[in-house]
Amino acid sequence: MKYLILSFSVLWTVGCSDPIPLEATDSPTPEDLASHSEEFRTEVIEVTEGVHVAVGFALANAILVEGENSNIIIDTTGTVETAREVKEIFDTINSNPVEAIIYTHNHADHTYGATVFAEDSNPEIYAHSSTAEYLSRVIGILRPIISSRSNRMFGNALPKEQVENNGIGPFLEIGRDGRKPGLLYPTKTFTDKLKFEVGGIEVELFHAPGETNDQLFVWLPGKKALFPGDNFYKTFPNLYTIRGTPYRDLAGWVNSIDMMRYLEPEFLVPSHTRPLEGKEKINKLLTTYRDGIQFVHDQTVRLMNLGFGPDEIAEQLILPKHLGDSPYLKEFYGSPAWSAKNVFSGYLGWFDGNPSTLKPLPKKEEAENFIKLVGDWDDLFLIAEQSYIEGKFQWSLQLTDYLLRVRPADEKTELLRQSCLIALGNKESNPNSRYYYLSSAAQLDKDYQESDILLPDIEVIKKYPIESMMDSLKVNVIPEKSIDKNIQLLFTFTDSSKVFSVFLRKGVLEVQPFLISGSSVQVTSKEEDLKAILSGIKSLPISLVNGTLQIEGSRTDLLTFFTSLRN
Ligand SMILES: [Zn+2]
Repeated sequence: MKYLILSFSVLWTVGCSDPIPLEATDSPTPEDLASHSEEFRTEVIEVTEGVHVAVGFALANAILVEGENSNIIIDTTGTVETAREVKEIFDTINSNPVEAIIYTHNHADHTYGATVFAEDSNPEIYAHSSTAEYLSRVIGILRPIISSRSNRMFGNALPKEQVENNGIGPFLEIGRDGRKPGLLYPTKTFTDKLKFEVGGIEVELFHAPGETNDQLFVWLPGKKALFPGDNFYKTFPNLYTIRGTPYRDLAGWVNSIDMMRYLEPEFLVPSHTRPLEGKEKINKLLTTYRDGIQFVHDQTVRLMNLGFGPDEIAEQLILPKHLGDSPYLKEFYGSPAWSAKNVFSGYLGWFDGNPSTLKPLPKKEEAENFIKLVGDWDDLFLIAEQSYIEGKFQWSLQLTDYLLRVRPADEKTELLRQSCLIALGNKESNPNSRYYYLSSAAQLDKDYQESDILLPDIEVIKKYPIESMMDSLKVNVIPEKSIDKNIQLLFTFTDSSKVFSVFLRKGVLEVQPFLISGSSVQVTSKEEDLKAILSGIKSLPISLVNGTLQIEGSRTDLLTFFTSLRN
């Protein structure tokens, strides 16, 4: 034992040098963000024989792979209009019917142009087995909040000239200029790996969790071409997105990139930003990219284990210069600091470990106490104003939180807050935070109008599973309107013969997909009609009068049910 300790101490003195301080890379500037637009020059690029990628038409690329008598489309852009623009060009290159559409993952910017590419040939839609569920989730229970946060992050409500680009594409087309969604649900799915042939082209799909859990990559062994979806593009990856996302598993993402590296692709065609060519170059870039992700993951966990909380980790986590200098890890979309917080909450949840945050004072009480420390409300306002004048925009913004908690909607504080947000936004080079600040500033204008990014669309809703629709009702119950209610309803759908028993019980909605006797009201309709009513596309009173919705039993109970739901 003594010998062991001794040999360690010898190693220690001989083998260890002084720690090397990590050098961070320079952050990009707003001018760099403007130059990044060059990445999205509108163009259909021939990557290698028979592989064409449409860049710059939409937030995401669409890719054409030519087969002998039929073609493959990988990702479809995000609206009918952008898909149409791309399809017309693809058709001039090769007008073979589309036999397969592949979704690299569920996000709307990859899937909502599908109807256009499918219109002449009724192709199979390939995706991971979990993609359909994620598609439904975004349309379903999270639509309102994802829509409004996406709007701010993508700057969709800002004047167009204010949006330089969105880091991974020129602009988000969804929800813009009245463009329409054209979604199709997957028809062929798989769990780990799938091989098939289309038009003489051998296709391999690999499940590759990363930016989303349902992510896949496409490998064409005959062409040595790899299509990584959103697990690789030319900016620091969005290991966390500020519009809100389920936990993104960084370790899984690294594994997925490693699977790609060891296939030794000669062509790499991401679904955002431009394609790459050259085995060595691609391997080097993929290695840098996976090292960037792994560094953030591993160092966050190391600091977590030392007892640091998410904010403290985000403050001290530095992406080393050799990684941060890579043009593929510049912060034009994701951010190491946000990602560190994602890792923390993914492993440990919301509690930062500090006992003072376990049961903090209510926000308003904290603000009142804070204001007492500096004098009164007007004193704090003067400090906030002075901070703004001195260029301390973030501090001034934080002080407006206290001021507004005590005097909500105070006009001069909102004006100061707006100035802070504009100043912070104009300094930002990360488009996500840039437009989030600027949109939040615009929202403080009295005449601000935000359009709904994922507006309920009848064609999309028709394809949305009725099970998901019935399930989404649960999170729309308003307890104040239903805390004294106890109602049982039965829904029967004539077109699918499906039946749902629904209990509204004191602020909680139970939904069961089978018949339970004892309902006080029975509703009979077509699936699509109830979906349209619940989405606000059709009116409930008119549907009751014209018989679209047929009712037996207590009308009062039915109306109580509907008025207990949001909208
Ligand atoms: Zn994407």
